[in-house]
Amino acid sequence: MSLKTQVIDARGQHEAGTQMGGRIIRDGGLVAFPTETVYGLGADGLNEEAVRAIFEAKGRPADNPLILHVRSKNEVRKLWDTVPEKAQRLMDAFWPGALTLVHKKSALVPAVVTAGMDTVALRMPDNKTARALIKAADTPIAAPSANVSGRPSPTTAQHVLEDMDGKIPLIIDGGPCGFGLESTVLLIGSPPVLLRPGMVTKSMIEAVVGLYTAAGKCG
Ligand code: AMP
Ligand code: MG
Repeated sequence: MSLKTQVIDARGQHEAGTQMGGRIIRDGGLVAFPTETVYGLGADGLNEEAVRAIFEAKGRPADNPLILHVRSKNEVRKLWDTVPEKAQRLMDAFWPGALTLVHKKSALVPAVVTAGMDTVALRMPDNKTARALIKAADTPIAAPSANVSGRPSPTTAQHVLEDMDGKIPLIIDGGPCGFGLESTVLLIGSPPVLLRPGMVTKSMIEAVVGLYTAAGKCG
């Protein structure tokens, strides 16, 4: 079924778009929103059916796990089974920001989010609109980039519309994303493993947690 996709301009004033977006997400729907990296396609990260709809809208293979976007460092306590000291230091140094941290998940996180893995990727974005949306939704937001799988990650609302028109009810337009580079993905372990290079560099991370081996593969 085709939906009418509404685009709300949130530049300067993000209340209207984020309030509407928060309601849609609480009701199990999908909302595209800006972050400081690229536009995300968000759903309630604790609602299995809503998360499944993300994979469907993107044509994303079900074995590619999603990042959960949180609104505070505190929220990781309920989404990870523990909070390692190293993770706490990295959060204190880089959150809010473009560093995604992967660690063993708690029972609260549905398997569909993590593609069945026992770890979950968490990030607290720095973008004001993204943060207002997570607050309004009052739940962690699962969000990959808001493109059809295989296409470039979108950095404007117009790019999102080209891929998502008729598939989602709302795109929140926050203007062009600042960087267009994705978040760094780091597995917390001994040593930590860089799964995807991104805005936060290896040397920035090493300045906080010491030297580590930058080997790894991102699903
Ligand atoms: P995207 O949201 O499209 O930018 O992709 C998110 C990236 O994070 C993908 O490359 C995923 O493979 C990676 N990712 C998400 N969750 C995990 C996890 N639990 N373990 C390893 N990599 C992950
Ligand atoms: Mg992507």
